[in-house]
Amino acid sequence: MAPPRLEPGQTLGILGGGQLGRMLALAAARLGLDVAILDPAPDAPAGRVAAHVIVAAYDDPKGLEALAAIAPVVTYEFENVPAAAVAALAEMGIEVAPGPTALRVAQDRFEEKTFLNAHGAPTVAFAPADSAEEAVAAVERLGAPVLMKTRREGYDGKGQRWVEHAADAAAAFAELGGRPVILEAAADFVRELSIIAARGHDGATAIYPLAENHHERGILRRSIAPARAAPALADQAERIAARVLAGLDYVGVIGIELFEMREGGLLVNEIAPRVHNTGHWTQDGCEVDQFEQHVRAVAGWPLGPTRAIARVEMLNLLGEEANDWLRYAAEPETRVHLYGKRDPKPGRKMGHLNRVKPL
Ligand code: AMP
Repeated sequence: MAPPRLEPGQTLGILGGGQLGRMLALAAARLGLDVAILDPAPDAPAGRVAAHVIVAAYDDPKGLEALAAIAPVVTYEFENVPAAAVAALAEMGIEVAPGPTALRVAQDRFEEKTFLNAHGAPTVAFAPADSAEEAVAAVERLGAPVLMKTRREGYDGKGQRWVEHAADAAAAFAELGGRPVILEAAADFVRELSIIAARGHDGATAIYPLAENHHERGILRRSIAPARAAPALADQAERIAARVLAGLDYVGVIGIELFEMREGGLLVNEIAPRVHNTGHWTQDGCEVDQFEQHVRAVAGWPLGPTRAIARVEMLNLLGEEANDWLRYAAEPETRVHLYGKRDPKPGRKMGHLNRVKPL
């Protein structure tokens, strides 16, 4: 085996200080690694559990230099970190994982779907549009209804509009800011699933059981895992995960969102080159959870086993819901995970519960 990229006592850099960074930092600490968080906010959830905090914009050269001075390996907790920041770190000799290809593909929904189809991972039919006229033509070609999404920077259902008639496409394009969009055929799905997977520097892969996910107003509300699924469906999901990981020459944990189609089989909705909300169940349901797995992968350690040891219902705590933490903590089957965020704005992810049952 090749020598590890990081040994206990060394520092892993993380771009982004939200809850994903916080849970990565906690997992890294368990493995004897320190963490340095770079985030523009002085009070970020991950910064409060990290050895080093650099408060700077993601593209601030001074902040990136400070990070490079202490962290030989850098990862990220959200896919909208500027590509230039990753390039600047690479120029300073820092290993950034997942690498720039994964970031480029995941930052642009058109690139993403094009990549997926080229690598044998099926998606809905789609078309890009850079103008209102192109959007109208794309709706006519795909057939309404279609979902119009900004190519870049949408998340949790933001930056999306359903278009019911070609005549409405120009207005929807304007509402989304006149930015480049992708139009997607409506997926006739019976449920939403996801698969979390990891790949190491040596090409080894580790794939978790499927999770079944329920969204409300575009935000993940609940996951149930391992999802009940026919073996053929689980096999297809694993094949998709293996192709995506190999196609991106990936290092780290990836989240792959899937539609189970009414006519059978899976389509990929999107990929997230990072630990993923639909993988939080692994913290209390699997031998090695997604956060430790990601740290192991980017640090060049052997990947851990992904076998389920419990059935988990994961519930996101949004806004004021987290105020009931004491009641949840009293439930014997419930593991409470809180992110230390100060301001419970409506819809904001403040924490989650993993309700654990025997397999
Ligand atoms: P996304 O931001 O792409 O993850 O989309 C957010 C949610 O919108 C998904 O979880 C689905 O519930 C729904 N959705 C996204 N794309 C489609 C599609 N092409 N057809 C039907 N529903 C979709």
